[in-house]
Amino acid sequence: MGKTSKDKRDVYYRLAKEEGWRARSAFKLLQIDDEFHIFEGVKNAVDLCAAPGSWSQVLTRKLRNKDDDSPTAKIVAVDLQAMAPLPGVIQIQGDITQLSTAEKIIQHFEGEKADLVVCDGAPDVTGLHDIDEYVQAQLLLAALNITTHVLKEGGVFVAKIFRGRDITLLYSQLRIFFPKVTVAKPTSSRNSSIEAFVVCQNYAPPSGYIPNMSNPLLDHQYCDWNEWEGPNRVIVPFLACGDLSAYDSDMSYPLDTEYKFRPPTQMPINPPYHEAVCIKKQDQLAKPAVDQLTKFESLELKE
Ligand code: SAM
Repeated sequence: MGKTSKDKRDVYYRLAKEEGWRARSAFKLLQIDDEFHIFEGVKNAVDLCAAPGSWSQVLTRKLRNKDDDSPTAKIVAVDLQAMAPLPGVIQIQGDITQLSTAEKIIQHFEGEKADLVVCDGAPDVTGLHDIDEYVQAQLLLAALNITTHVLKEGGVFVAKIFRGRDITLLYSQLRIFFPKVTVAKPTSSRNSSIEAFVVCQNYAPPSGYIPNMSNPLLDHQYCDWNEWEGPNRVIVPFLACGDLSAYDSDMSYPLDTEYKFRPPTQMPINPPYHEAVCIKKQDQLAKPAVDQLTKFESLELKE
C-alpha cells in the first residue's frame, strides 16, 4: 500500500490532515454540533477518552479561540494513552473506569461544574461483537458516572455507543438522568460501523440523587428490555446529522489535480502498537525465534 492510498480511500482522513485535525473523528463532533449546537453557552468541558486529541482541538477552537477570546474556558482531557500537549487543555492520563482517575477529573471542577462532557471512548475491539458491545457499554457507564459528578444541571453529555442488542437498557439508564436522549449518526461515521453517538440534553438527575463513585449503574441485572411494551418501552429518536450532501464516509473520492500529500497532523507519541511496527520493519513479525520453536519444529528445520 502506497503513502497516498488511505488519502484516496478515506476523504475524512484526508480532510483532517488538510485542516490540521489530529484525527478524522473531529468531523463527527463538528457534525453533531451542526445539528444540536452543543457548544452554545459552554464554558467548561470534559473530553473523556481524548487521545490523540481531535475532539479536544474542536473544544479549544470552539470554546477558547472565539472572537471574544474566552481564555477562562476549562477543558479537561483524559485518556489511557499519553497525548501530545494541546495549549489550554488540562491532560490526565488514566483509565476512566478507575476511581482514582474519576477523582482526578472531579478535583479540577471543585467549586464549579462542566457544561459539557464528551466521550469518544472505544475499547480495543476484539471482533467478538457481544464482548465489544459489552465493554463499550461499560465505558459509557463509567463516563456517565463521572458525568453525574461534574455536569451542571441543564448540561449536555455526548458519548459514543455501539448500537447492539442491549442498547435499550443503556437508553433507559441515560433517560434516568437526561429527559432528552437522541442517537446521532454523523455523516463522517461509516454506515458500515455500528458506532453512533448519544446526545443527552438538559441534565436533570432524579431528585435526591447523590453521585456515587462505587458506580451502582454497573450493577444492573441485564435483561431484554426490548420485551417491554407501552409507556415502559423507551423509544429514542435516531437522527442523521451533518450536511447530508457532505462526503459519504463509505465512498472513495478521486484525488484532485491540486492534491498534495500531507503527513498526519500529530503522530501518536507512544502508541501501543509501536513495538509491533519496529518488529515488522525488521521483517520479523510472526516469525518465532528458533529457540522458541518446539523440538519437533527445529528438527524439521534442520532437515
Ligand atoms: N476522540 C478522540 C480524538 O478525537 O482524537 C479519539 C478517541 S479514540 C476513538 C478512543 C480512545 O479511547 C483511545 O484513545 C483509547 O485509549 C481510549 N480509551 C479506551 N478505553 C479507555 C479507558 N478505560 N479510559 C480512558 N481512555 C480509554
